[in-house]
Amino acid sequence: MSIRVRFAPSPTGPLHIGGVRTALYNYLLAKKEGGTFILRIEDTDQTRLVEGAEDYIKESLEWLGLTPDEGPGYGGDYGPYRQSERKDLYAQYAQQMVEQGNAYYAFDTPDELQAMRKEQEALGHHSAKYDARIRMQMRNSLTLPAEESDILIAAGEGIIRLKMPHDEDVSFVDLVREKVTFNTSELDDKVILKKDGMPTYHLANIVDDHLMKITHVIRGEEWLSSTAHHVLMYRFMGWEAPHFTHLPLILKPTGKGKLSKRDGAKFGFAVFPLEWHDKKEDVVYAGFREDGFDPKALLNFLVLLGWNPGSDEEIMTMERMIKLFSLSKIVKSGARFDVDKSSWFNQQYLMNTADADLLAPVKAAMPEGMTVEDSYLQTVIGLMKERVHKYGDFYTEGSFFFSAPESYDDKQVKKRYKPEQDAHFDAIKSMIAASSDSATLADQVKGYLKDNELKMGVYLPLLRIMMCGALKGPDLFDIIFSLGKDEVLKRYDAALVAFKGMES
Ligand code: GLU
Repeated sequence: MSIRVRFAPSPTGPLHIGGVRTALYNYLLAKKEGGTFILRIEDTDQTRLVEGAEDYIKESLEWLGLTPDEGPGYGGDYGPYRQSERKDLYAQYAQQMVEQGNAYYAFDTPDELQAMRKEQEALGHHSAKYDARIRMQMRNSLTLPAEESDILIAAGEGIIRLKMPHDEDVSFVDLVREKVTFNTSELDDKVILKKDGMPTYHLANIVDDHLMKITHVIRGEEWLSSTAHHVLMYRFMGWEAPHFTHLPLILKPTGKGKLSKRDGAKFGFAVFPLEWHDKKEDVVYAGFREDGFDPKALLNFLVLLGWNPGSDEEIMTMERMIKLFSLSKIVKSGARFDVDKSSWFNQQYLMNTADADLLAPVKAAMPEGMTVEDSYLQTVIGLMKERVHKYGDFYTEGSFFFSAPESYDDKQVKKRYKPEQDAHFDAIKSMIAASSDSATLADQVKGYLKDNELKMGVYLPLLRIMMCGALKGPDLFDIIFSLGKDEVLKRYDAALVAFKGMES
């Protein structure tokens, strides 16, 4: 049997990082087993649709390299893959359940439902659910005379609700939690078909999983309790249910509570793969892409939020993740979103990637209006990649590679610089002017300082400040050689003038 999995987001907003992890786990299982990874857009709740969300989801998956094998715009034999385009397909299954006695029509108005809730609360019932206990007091096809409900149904006044069996245990195997049992008395008579003929999530979800021959459902923990309803519906329809796996929550950096989109702004990091402009709130939420993350590093970070390979191995390529992935190693407990760890993964990725392969993404992060030759940028990448975390850092942390310092660390200069040193700086300048490689220059300068009993800890930091403006950056002589002699000598002279000004 070939494995078929689906990622089934609702286009109600941008893709949260938890959704990305769900997509990743589905993708990994499909690729490991030579199966099929499907994107299904669950847009039955038309009131919650957000413009641009579906495109955002697709763009995110493509940026991450999690391209669906089937889905809207991706082809496949089980389409359409957008539920709104499958609208006419669902009602027949809901009606079938009504005919079997497993579902019924309900006609209650919002006011009647509200009154029922109030009454239940007044009686001290915590959750005023439309359930087996309540349904016989409501207006539906179980309580009204047949002719009356037939008229209402014909007038399009009815919705269809599942008729949950009374006090029955419903069990299913969750591959992470093993056996999960719900008693039907805890479950409500969920609406499966709305007045407008649109299915709710529950009906559309099981019908599509069945028709699309989904073998494994891998989704967030928040859907665990719905699974009991789903399992019952599979039973009512006489269909074989897929295997279920519910993924643990992703927790806030503090470890307390579920990670929310507001936490990103609060703690200063992205919780979305791509930047998202929320038009309603008029807020721009940060994205990992715009923050300078590589998608491979992001996936490596995410794969370990809720799963591990059973060893300490952390740095994994996509091929390695596919090889090691297994549903049985998904953990039950929530996984803390550790922001520092996410940048650590990106840093590791930069360190382990050839300079030439980093050229394109580093170029893409280049500030607007800047022009740099590829060969030079590649040299800078080589010198800086162990010292930065994100793509944009090459330009911020390594700004001195692209323009001369505009100021100098005044405290450090004052601590070291004296005009009496100028003769020595002239000598060092001549060495630079005559030099041909960085190692020989380093030996010469250090030899000169030693021979003249001058302090390395005074001259070398000053030389660095001349080039970089501050005590930062990779090896000084590598910087000197990559900047080129003309630029170095220009910086040298400008810095000495500035140093003299600071000294007075
Ligand atoms: N549409 C649901 C969501 O937005 C899908 C849940 C599922 O995978 O069954 O998460």
